[in-house]
Amino acid sequence: MTECRGLIEQASIASCNQDLEFALAARWSDFRLVFSCECGPAEFVVRSGTLSAAEPSASDDGEDRIEIRGSHEAWGAFVARPGTRNTQHLLAMARRSPGFELVGDQLALVRNLRAINIVTEHLKASDG
Ligand SMILES: [Zn+2]
Repeated sequence: MTECRGLIEQASIASCNQDLEFALAARWSDFRLVFSCECGPAEFVVRSGTLSAAEPSASDDGEDRIEIRGSHEAWGAFVARPGTRNTQHLLAMARRSPGFELVGDQLALVRNLRAINIVTEHLKASDG
């Protein structure tokens, strides 16, 4: 991965939205998902089971906001296939990989974890 701003390309948003498991996991979800690195943030919203790209917004409107922050290197390790035991899962990455962290409301993270995991799976699948 060379350009982290393109973390989720249009193709991977579309494939996520065609994933019935995602639709089911996110059907009541309403949250903002932010991937960030040295390049800056790439922002998305999930509304009623649909993922879409979003303009950056100030997080003062009370919406659930989950940010996954990592260095270029950490993101590269996360999306690499095949992964390792330490990089396969978001929570393993956050615990074991320096330079990779989950920022924001932990409750919002837990509430939306399944949907977020599915998004990251599509991210990995789209990287090469
Ligand atoms: Zn980057």
